[in-house]
Amino acid sequence: MSQHKWISWNGNKTHSYQNLYTPTKELELQEIVKKNTSIRVFGGRFSSSDINAGTDTLIDITQYNKIVNINKETKEITVQAGITLKELIETAQQNGWCIPCLPDINSITIGGALATATHGTNGFILSKYVSKFRMILADGSIKEFTDTDFETDAIRVSLGLLGVFSEITFQCEANYKLHLVEQPMKDIAWTKKLDNYLKTHDFVRILWLPHTNHGYVILGNKVSEGFKFTLKKAPKYHKHRRATSKILYKYTHIFPRFTATANKILYRLFFTATKEHAGSLYDATVTKKRGQTMELAEWTIPYTKFQTLFADLKAMLESTSNRAYVHVPMDIRFIKKDNAWLSYACSEDVVTVGCVCRNSEKAHTYEAFEKVEEVFLKHGGKPHWAKHFKATYPQLSKLYSKWDAFEILREKMDPNQKFINAYLTQLFIK
Ligand SMILES: Cc1cc2nc3c(=O)[nH]c(=O)nc-3n(C[C@H](O)[C@H](O)[C@H](O)COP(=O)(O)OP(=O)(O)OC[C@H]3O[C@@H](n4cnc5c(N)ncnc54)[C@H](O)[C@@H]3O)c2cc1C
Repeated sequence: MSQHKWISWNGNKTHSYQNLYTPTKELELQEIVKKNTSIRVFGGRFSSSDINAGTDTLIDITQYNKIVNINKETKEITVQAGITLKELIETAQQNGWCIPCLPDINSITIGGALATATHGTNGFILSKYVSKFRMILADGSIKEFTDTDFETDAIRVSLGLLGVFSEITFQCEANYKLHLVEQPMKDIAWTKKLDNYLKTHDFVRILWLPHTNHGYVILGNKVSEGFKFTLKKAPKYHKHRRATSKILYKYTHIFPRFTATANKILYRLFFTATKEHAGSLYDATVTKKRGQTMELAEWTIPYTKFQTLFADLKAMLESTSNRAYVHVPMDIRFIKKDNAWLSYACSEDVVTVGCVCRNSEKAHTYEAFEKVEEVFLKHGGKPHWAKHFKATYPQLSKLYSKWDAFEILREKMDPNQKFINAYLTQLFIK
């Protein structure tokens, strides 16, 4: 029996392994892939789903993390796949560029983010901004994929099942200043105004607060450098929101009903102030530090179905007839349609709804995950690949129009099942 143990960021997934490699050069990465028969790659280990390890050989990609090239004429940056999003964005900003849609975490690796369809608020999934993927294939050979290759839209979201990302070229855009106003609003009001918000704002994010009848609405617009506004900062104690939540929710696995009271307290303390500020998308909207771990689920639903789903979800979560008391906030964001085969937004604009358990060590007792999943599956929703869900092949295979095509390509690109673990087998193999 192996003594080595792999542990996920929040401690909820552990696996033993035989060999761990930490390559720094492409040639090393190539050799590792070529000579081993069962491999998973991991980056920041932030994923809640069991997609990182569970094979004899593991590749820690985090030291394969250099900027390879900056093309000032085309605004393209090429990076090694283990670089963090932080380093990529800071390099883009130094050149006056941005990636126009960013997730709310900067410590993830680029490879991990792309593989799982990581997304932000009001824009495309991150991998839509990639113009070239350089990959190590199952036989150890290297191939570059661009928009002209039919495989590229499968590779954009491929969970490490089609090969290992080596170098990634991002197509950046000119950086811009975002002016943001944040304020609480009744559910009945923000849900009615949503269509209009999305038409008139460049950034729309709702931190929904079940059991309070409110959402915290964040609206942003692109403005010129000289744009004038009155700065309204959050009270200083707001920086303790996550730590306070952790304390308030500490025993909610034993007393789930207390969650409703905790949510009301958190709303009063942290979500009633109006804030106004401005900065780049990265500076103004992305969380840079997190003291607490958590277990995350996230579901997506076509925008056209959101209102019906939301009514159902709110009724279920605020009902006293189940134990699905959910921690706040539930993060509601909006993603534009793309062509990636396993993207939640393949062919239609979607809304994403986050579900957090702040007691990660008690996540197995958190009924909200199960009930939220039931509601979303009933409405045809799709889970975030990197987050907590129970659905497997029978449910998932019905949700994606390109599912069979992906499976045919996976069999072709990985005929000896080098890149699959037990968990992914339940998801992808009939
Ligand atoms: C606090 C927090 C906030 C988050 N915020 C958001 C958010 O705003 N939006 C969002 O969409 N998601 C969000 N996520 C999810 C997060 O983006 C994903 O879990 C992402 O995969 C994490 O990156 P990582 O480097 O930790 O990847 P890991 O978890 O280490 O790996 C994820 C997957 O990528 C594969 N992989 C990694 N590197 C490579 C490679 N080079 N080639 C091929 N496959 C590879 C792994 O095998 C694995 O299957 C959040 C997660 C947390 C914990």
